[in-house]
This record gives sequence, C-alpha cells and structure tokens, in this order.
Amino acid sequence: MNKEKYFKLLVQEKQRILRNLFMEKRVDEKTESAWVEPKDLEEWADLKIQDDMRYKLCERELSILKSIDVALKKIKEGKYGICEKCGKEIEEERLDLIPWTRYCSICSRNAVRGK
Ligand SMILES: [Zn+2]
Repeated sequence: MNKEKYFKLLVQEKQRILRNLFMEKRVDEKTESAWVEPKDLEEWADLKIQDDMRYKLCERELSILKSIDVALKKIKEGKYGICEKCGKEIEEERLDLIPWTRYCSICSRNAVRGK
C-alpha cells in the first residue's frame, strides 16, 4: 500500500476543509485573522483545530476532519488501512474514494444496516 499517497490525499482534504473554515471565519468576523498559512504538508498535518472555529463547521465536515486526524495518526503509527471492526485490510479502491475511512466495505455496510 502506498501510504505516502494516502497521507497526501488526507492532508489535501484537511487543507480544503480548513480553507473553507477560514474563509467563513473571515466573512463572519470581518477582521484580519492571525492565521498563518502553513508552509508544508507536515505543518498542515499537525495543525490543530481551534475551539472557536469548531462550531462553524457543519457536522459532516467536522466528522471528516476528525476522521482525517485519526487516519493521519494511524499512518504515523503504521496502523493505517486496517478495519477497526474486523481487523482486516481495507480495500485500496475504498481508500482511494474515502482515504479517512475506518472500516472495510463489509463492516461499513453492516454499520449502515445497524448490525
Ligand atoms: Zn471490516
């Protein structure tokens, strides 16, 4: 599995969500923010979400952001791509679509059905 590829995908998605968030924040407050554009991928990856930003995120983006952080942590720990339910490897086709997923396609389908 190409972990470098998924790391980049995850960081890109995190960057996109945080950018949206930042733009909303600027529009809302109409002030110059102390925001400093992170210079590289590592900085983006380590960026923590501020509490005052949190409530402005829609629920879906917030949950994705959390999942991205979990996935980035897993990459660092060497546990990325393992289903949290059954412990098997998550299909790469699935990771290509949802790189922050925590479950394989079978467990995810079961979860939707409420099993
Ligand atoms: Zn599974």
